[in-house]
Amino acid sequence: MGLDYFTAFYIFAQITYNMEEFDEFDDFRDKQSTIGDDGSRVWVYPKKPNGKLYNYRKLTSVVLLAVLFGLPFIKLNGDPFVLFNFIERKFIIFGVMFYPQDFHLFVLSMIAFIVFVVLFTVIFGRIFCGWICPQTIFMEFLYRPIEYWIEGNYSQQRKLDQAPLDFNKFWRKGLKHLIFYLISFVTAHFFLAYITGIDHVKEIIIDGPDTHLAGFIGMIVFSGVHYFVFAKLREQVCIIICPYGRLQGVLLDRNSIVVSYDYKRGEPRGKYNPLEDRNDKGKGDCIECGSCQAVCPTGIDIRNGTQLECINCTACIDACNSVMRRVKKPEGLIRYASERSIADKTKLKFNIRILFYSVILAGLLILIAFLFSIRTDIESTILRQKGTMYQEYDSLHYSNIYMIQVINKTREALPVELKLDEPENGEIKMIGDPLVVEKGQVGEAQFLVLIKKRDVKKSNTEVEFKVMSNGKEMDEIKSTFVGPNSLDKK
Ligand code: SF4
Ligand code: SF4
Repeated sequence: MGLDYFTAFYIFAQITYNMEEFDEFDDFRDKQSTIGDDGSRVWVYPKKPNGKLYNYRKLTSVVLLAVLFGLPFIKLNGDPFVLFNFIERKFIIFGVMFYPQDFHLFVLSMIAFIVFVVLFTVIFGRIFCGWICPQTIFMEFLYRPIEYWIEGNYSQQRKLDQAPLDFNKFWRKGLKHLIFYLISFVTAHFFLAYITGIDHVKEIIIDGPDTHLAGFIGMIVFSGVHYFVFAKLREQVCIIICPYGRLQGVLLDRNSIVVSYDYKRGEPRGKYNPLEDRNDKGKGDCIECGSCQAVCPTGIDIRNGTQLECINCTACIDACNSVMRRVKKPEGLIRYASERSIADKTKLKFNIRILFYSVILAGLLILIAFLFSIRTDIESTILRQKGTMYQEYDSLHYSNIYMIQVINKTREALPVELKLDEPENGEIKMIGDPLVVEKGQVGEAQFLVLIKKRDVKKSNTEVEFKVMSNGKEMDEIKSTFVGPNSLDKK
């Protein structure tokens, strides 16, 4: 048998997961629920979930989807509220503009975010995947409900897939994939809006593809990838592709709170018989109904313990709770719990690892707050014009020529003036028009500095500039003023 795509990925997943874990468990660890014995894909047909947690997740998804599709329309002083224009290296996050010069702030914020996610995962496991991750939200609350609506519940979907192609199958599959593609196409427009802004996307729509060929090709490619992910790849993204999923093996420990099966209470499992007393028969609370597995979007059995494939979607909690209610047993046979709390009946402990991550996170947040506090509205550079020496401006003055470059990080045009702070009796003469830098732009100008000959006492004199705008000091820059070398010998 050749090594196909899924088997290769599975081997990779095993290597990147904690190998020691694999040795300890039974044979379910040796194969993946979505890979058959011959290496082919096993399609997952999860039963439509239902229950309290599912309703909370639905509500969360509606809010997050509204935010995702609504944010590009929000503007602040004519600029997008959020923009990730990595092509022009311009980022706006919640109204704050970031330029290449602020890259350290951006990188630090990203690192802080990653540390936060790691810390959160150590304590709460993969809860992000089940509740917030766009992959889960799009799949479970947009694409999957459409599939249930057109093809029916899991058993009807399975039957439809197995049936020969007839008119019924043709229209159902055709309609589903058409809607899937349309959603992907619309989503691609919104993702592009996060990169280039909603106005640019509107332009592409109004002007047509021929005038914005690059943007149009980008959208077609993105819609294709998006469609492929949700129509075909699905849970494989969470199981074998997502790097965050791969990290679970090293992030989770026995204290992490994850979706867990209470094996102490559930085992030994046994079929339900309303006429028997399960305690007398030595049976646990699990009635082997399989409902938890039937609703699982990654096709696993949570009763086998915490698994790499589990995205903590809580569908099995809802399913099992509904079964427990029907057999008049307490809910929570499957629940959010740590392995330790189930095994030892203990509560979450604040361990060294959590302390370590918390300290790093706090340090990063303080550093970012400090860097934000010293972030200036403009960034300016003053350099003496390359390759020039001093000039005798007139009989009384020496002059040097300089170049100023100003980045305006504000949301309005800034007139820029220069003052010579040191030496006090020097003079500045701008060359050309007064410098006005448009918002978000870089402005440049040349100027002369004149210093009286009698005040130039050596070949290199320190000069200090104040960059002003509307009478307000914006920046302070030091440079040197070059005079004749002969002055050093005196
Ligand atoms: S849903 Fe609950 S009772 Fe049914 S098999 Fe799963 S754990 Fe056991
Ligand atoms: S095991 Fe439960 S929580 Fe984990 S993915 Fe399956 S249904 Fe969701």
